[in-house]
Amino acid sequence: MHDKNSKKLFFKANICWRCNGDRQFTTTCNCSTIVYHDEKYQPIKFGDEKNTDYKDLERCCDCNVVKGGFHHSGCEVEECPKCNNPILICRCPGN
Ligand SMILES: [Zn+2]
Ligand SMILES: [Zn+2]
Ligand SMILES: [Zn+2]
Repeated sequence: MHDKNSKKLFFKANICWRCNGDRQFTTTCNCSTIVYHDEKYQPIKFGDEKNTDYKDLERCCDCNVVKGGFHHSGCEVEECPKCNNPILICRCPGN
């Protein structure tokens, strides 16, 4: 069954596996480093993406963090700090 309104009401997975925070009630992810094969990177903050489609939003349309916050795991807006592609399609090792 596919309800086209369900994405608005329910986030894909409310609990982030990086910080254990609930996307609906947190303003940023507490995890400020991601590791790709022994290299540490600081995640791209919401508002700093190369893709400017989201510039006008106060909160991330996918994971609900505020501007300047870190995205929660699995967010489709988050970009990879290594290759600058959306993190969900990034093929960097370890992701
Ligand atoms: Zn998180
Ligand atoms: Zn996000
Ligand atoms: Zn990447």
